[in-house]
Amino acid sequence: MEKQTLSFQAEVKQILHLVTHSLYSNKEIFLRELVSNASDACDKLRFEALDKAELYEDAPNLEIRVGYDEQAKTITISDNGIGMSAEEAVAHLGTIAKSGTREFMARLEGEQKKDANLIGQFGVGFYSGFIVADRITVETRRAGAAAAEGVRWSSGGTGDFEVETIERARRGTDVILHLREGEEEFLSAWKLKSIIGKYSDHISLPVLMQKQSWDEEKSAQVTTDEWEAVNKAAALWTRAKSDITDAQYQEFYKQISYDQEAPLAYTHNRVEGRTEYTQLLYVPAKAPFDLWNRDKRGGVKLYVKRVFIMDDAEALMPVYLRFVKGVIDSADLPLNVSRELLQESRDVKAIREGCTKRVLAMLEDVAENQKDKYAEFWKQFGSVLKEGIGEDHANRERLAKLYRFASTQADEGVSFEDYVKRMKEGQEAIYYVTADTLATARNSPQLEIFRKKGIEVLLLVDRVDEWMLSHLYEFDGKPLTSVAKGGVDLGSLQDEEEKKAAEAAAEAFKPVLERLKTALKDRAKDVRTTARLVDSPACVVVDEGDMSAHLARMLKQAGQTAPKSLPILEVNAEHALVKRLDGDARFDDLAQILFDQALLAEGGQLEDPAAYVQRVNRLLTTG
Ligand code: ADP
Ligand code: MG
Repeated sequence: MEKQTLSFQAEVKQILHLVTHSLYSNKEIFLRELVSNASDACDKLRFEALDKAELYEDAPNLEIRVGYDEQAKTITISDNGIGMSAEEAVAHLGTIAKSGTREFMARLEGEQKKDANLIGQFGVGFYSGFIVADRITVETRRAGAAAAEGVRWSSGGTGDFEVETIERARRGTDVILHLREGEEEFLSAWKLKSIIGKYSDHISLPVLMQKQSWDEEKSAQVTTDEWEAVNKAAALWTRAKSDITDAQYQEFYKQISYDQEAPLAYTHNRVEGRTEYTQLLYVPAKAPFDLWNRDKRGGVKLYVKRVFIMDDAEALMPVYLRFVKGVIDSADLPLNVSRELLQESRDVKAIREGCTKRVLAMLEDVAENQKDKYAEFWKQFGSVLKEGIGEDHANRERLAKLYRFASTQADEGVSFEDYVKRMKEGQEAIYYVTADTLATARNSPQLEIFRKKGIEVLLLVDRVDEWMLSHLYEFDGKPLTSVAKGGVDLGSLQDEEEKKAAEAAAEAFKPVLERLKTALKDRAKDVRTTARLVDSPACVVVDEGDMSAHLARMLKQAGQTAPKSLPILEVNAEHALVKRLDGDARFDDLAQILFDQALLAEGGQLEDPAAYVQRVNRLLTTG
């Protein structure tokens, strides 16, 4: 074939324009794309040669070579894969046959204006070579074709390209990049190696480069004739589980996580079916310092057929599992997938659901079989896992089972299941109290009746607990009930005699109650007697539908406004202090002190501490 000049398809021109003008911030990806094409070409040869072994000619070892020439300012990526015929070169390197190209470009165009970095996430295949090259020459010969059927394709990456037939003994393809002015940084063995290490370490073929050695005479680094592999050429996750040792899994974790500590647990699976992928996921032992940053992207790397696509592919994991590290290698996603496309992909949704289930199963296993390890995990990541209850409806129950709390019976490690097993006969609810600290929670006056009756109460003192409670109302059909909200109704747990005694005391107390209501009318929504208290004279509770005092305080601390609602004061009509109220000349002071103390006991702050101190002092001096 004589030399011909052909014009690029219109879409190709647009892509070339976009690529060369906006991918600058991420230009090193050209090497990833070209190495990946070389690897694909070898895969294709291997496939065609399955029933046509002669395609291997005399070079059965498939490999990729990357070389450079400082004088000529070229980088060459060579493979001995399938190669291209002249027609194929024209079709594949001059047109875009793939469906969805238009939408893809529309997105590129749209996003270009917003953020050039975003576009860097799009793989742009062969044309990305033009980011760093102002001319690309491709010399190729298809496997099985005669030496006279070689092809040279060449283009400056603007409007058109040239093709001609050449003599070519070697099978496969050389892609020669003539670097643009200013791109000389890529003419370095070290630079090329480090890019290959970053993106192509797990390509299953060896990527070879010429060995460098020190020349004494020239006193400089020189390139030798010896070729060596610069990638590991072994994607750990593609190997069979039975071929991988625990030490290898651990080592791999260190490589991808930069974590010096061994992981807590890992899971490695190949998933087949409608969506095919391999997952190798790790739960770290220690929380990273920025665990609380919900915007931080996840630690899962995405590969497509062993080609690295992106770090921190957050679409692959729910936010509450952002501490999970690992690799997902999809067989279905296109190489040019972007973060934005990931968000919308059905395959990705299936992967995310599958991976979530795997991680939960891994945690369930640790919780079941390695209790100490799980306790450590819970300390590190429990708060984050609690976010899941609001985020992941499908897995609510499994998540709730993984949660651990302190309670009136144990300082830590109490699960809902433990609690339910220990519930008293006739107990219908799971009781909890929220507070800032364990000490405040444990000493809440509201707990007294529960303690007396031997009923366990969960002590919820984690900042996210209030949030968790706004999404979790029950476990195993038992409602989660605050001991500091609404009236106490212990139902059948209270015996008849007690009830009668309480009613009688309340009746007798009525006149005092009315006076208390009047004295505290600006501070308390209501004043009532209660069966909640045993040793304390009074406590404050909030009305059934109102926000808990603890949550209101947290909102305030966070600079948000909490709806203002007055608490209810509950008094213990049988307490000596309360009994004394009747007929005491200092009734008003006593009423205010009773209320202030109740506030203090549940961890609240007094609006006017000085007034409280004055009242107490008055009482002490007149007493
Ligand atoms: P993709 O790899 O997603 O198909 P590219 O733009 O990277 O898109 O490559 C376009 C096409 O060019 C490939 O599908 C392939 O047919 C052909 N091609 C590119 N590089 C090579 C190569 N080294 N050997 C053989 N064919 C190649
Ligand atoms: Mg490609």
